[in-house]
Amino acid sequence: MLGLMQDWPLLMHRIIDHAAFNHGARKVISRSVEGPIVTTDYRTIRERALKVAKRLAKDGIGFGDRVGTLAWNGYRHLEAWYGIVGIGAVYHTLNPRLFPDQIAWIVNHAGDRLIMTDLTFVPLLEKLAGRLTSVERYVILTDAAHMPETTLKNAVAYETWLAEADDDFAWVEFDENTAAGMCYTSGTTGDPKGVVYSHRSNVLHSVMANNPDMLGLASRDVIMPVVPMFHANGWSLALTAPMAGATMVMPGAKMDGASIYDMLDRHAVTCSAAVPTVWLMLLQYLEQNPAARLPHLKRVVIGGSACPRAVTQTFRDVYDVEVLHAWGMTELSPLGTVCSMKPEYQDLDKEAWLDVKQTTGHAPFGVDMKITDDDGKRLPWDDKTFGRLKVRGPAVAKSYFKGDGGRILDDDGYFDTGDVATIDPYGYMRIVDRSKDVIKSGGEWISSIDLENIAVGHPDVAEAAVIGVHHPKWDERPLLVIVPKAGRTPDRHSLLTFMEGKVARWWLPDDVVFVAEIPHTATGKILKTALRAQFKEYKLPNA
Ligand code: ADP
Repeated sequence: MLGLMQDWPLLMHRIIDHAAFNHGARKVISRSVEGPIVTTDYRTIRERALKVAKRLAKDGIGFGDRVGTLAWNGYRHLEAWYGIVGIGAVYHTLNPRLFPDQIAWIVNHAGDRLIMTDLTFVPLLEKLAGRLTSVERYVILTDAAHMPETTLKNAVAYETWLAEADDDFAWVEFDENTAAGMCYTSGTTGDPKGVVYSHRSNVLHSVMANNPDMLGLASRDVIMPVVPMFHANGWSLALTAPMAGATMVMPGAKMDGASIYDMLDRHAVTCSAAVPTVWLMLLQYLEQNPAARLPHLKRVVIGGSACPRAVTQTFRDVYDVEVLHAWGMTELSPLGTVCSMKPEYQDLDKEAWLDVKQTTGHAPFGVDMKITDDDGKRLPWDDKTFGRLKVRGPAVAKSYFKGDGGRILDDDGYFDTGDVATIDPYGYMRIVDRSKDVIKSGGEWISSIDLENIAVGHPDVAEAAVIGVHHPKWDERPLLVIVPKAGRTPDRHSLLTFMEGKVARWWLPDDVVFVAEIPHTATGKILKTALRAQFKEYKLPNA
């Protein structure tokens, strides 16, 4: 017997319909690449997205075609996403921080037919264009007045192009399993791989990600996604915010402490989301400008890399802001867990509360987690046992674009995340390390992330990284790499003394080195592969 409820395919453009009809006047405020702050609303975003859809169709773009976007967070990028998916085409976010060769490789692999780009990236694309064989046209996300001279094929200013269509257009209806978006993994090992989101997975993920124990956005919120739309599906905020009817503040290209503070303050942002580096920059700015306060901000979502304890503590104690530590990955659409407090942890004292906030929290409905040993045997949720973290659910990838990487699920349909984690009896997951980065000392494992989190709490430290280096007796031992804060000169002794007592003795780094800079990936993570290569020949003093 079948249910007798309506067939209402979970199509992504229904989200912007909902926002336009129910929260039409809610603002979307953007720092434009041209300079000024531009304010629009969901009703207008939808009208213009319909024009994008119609105009794309006029250019011959249709069902299943990939449209690349190389753009910051802004209203035009938002309109582009909804317009693209509204005709069954596929938005493909390109990360400008990748090496140019990688961008070219990804565009060709995805077969993008059209690219929409911010002005910022026109020179980059001009250099690559000769190699981008599938691209037929470039739409520059600007108006005629700001349109540059360019050699890009069939280049046109977005506003000129859009004016050639009206919004008398109906979204195309199709199966909810149709592809909606694509995002490539960053490819720190091997070639990047394409993750293909469906309309169904994107819609379900947004519903899951917004329950009150996760992002919990409401129409009363003002959300500023600092995390770029090109990083891991923009943490789905371009969908979750309009679904909730929340006001959106888009920071554009400027992500330094002063610019982020300016947007938070000026637009009374209540919730924001970004990787730890952004928050470290903001907190440094606030430290230097004691008059700057954050009276509106209530919560910040921090993920992509481990959030240092000191960041969570400063936000709580100095600014009365709750950090929601989150874990996710491109393959998960991307949110997997968020650290909000279950009743068991609600009334903890200040230090114990911070201990829990160091975990990445618990999973929403729709993300099944397990940890296993190398043979795939399930391990207990006892907060101690380390295992490979595996997940399944309706918004988790089942394979990569074109089948790259082969079969990626185990027999029970779980995807191996490549992370090593513990899970506590209440379901709070703690990332111990990437399986490639964990330090193997005398047959036991040391978490590089835990050591980094402690070291970065030292008052003279701007950034810390820990890698395993060869040791004749223990196989690997931890080396601590430090970038000191400007004008400070911490030494080895003060760092090791600071860390003593905060971890088991045998976890303490065997040595400390000071550098001007630590290499990062295109999504702001510490590039451990490069760091390991840099210190390959390093001799530990006790080796
Ligand atoms: P990229 O490498 O392009 O940033 P992802 O965003 O997909 O790609 O990276 C996902 C990985 O980032 C996870 O598998 C995990 O290793 C790491 N990660 C994400 N969030 C956290 C977190 N809160 N703490 C520690 N590691 C995290």
